[in-house]
Amino acid sequence: MTIINISFVESAIPRFDAAACMNCGVCTALCPMEIGPLPRMLFRQVILGLEDKVIENADTIFSCLLCKMCEANCPAGVPIAENLRLLRNHINTTVHGLGR
Ligand code: SF4
Ligand code: SF4
Repeated sequence: MTIINISFVESAIPRFDAAACMNCGVCTALCPMEIGPLPRMLFRQVILGLEDKVIENADTIFSCLLCKMCEANCPAGVPIAENLRLLRNHINTTVHGLGR
């Protein structure tokens, strides 16, 4: 069962910023790692508060190179790499118990 955490972004990742994403797919098309769900689906999961789904994608989140190929070509100026870094930090803290 999927649990929705409606305060996920505000409380857990307050600097996360994907509100301008228009789901155009440029990021997915250009990603050299061919990371399927990133960033479009993942960012939607974060905004909707689907924390469990985000954590399920941890391996994918950590496989990102942070190369910013997607970000440099994003027509909406979404800070994709920084968003992914924030998600990694959240997973490291809540799942792996690091940085507490
Ligand atoms: S390129 Fe930018 S606007 Fe397009 S889907 Fe990716 S994050 Fe969203
Ligand atoms: S920053 Fe990550 S998601 Fe974006 S193009 Fe590079 S590897 Fe892919």
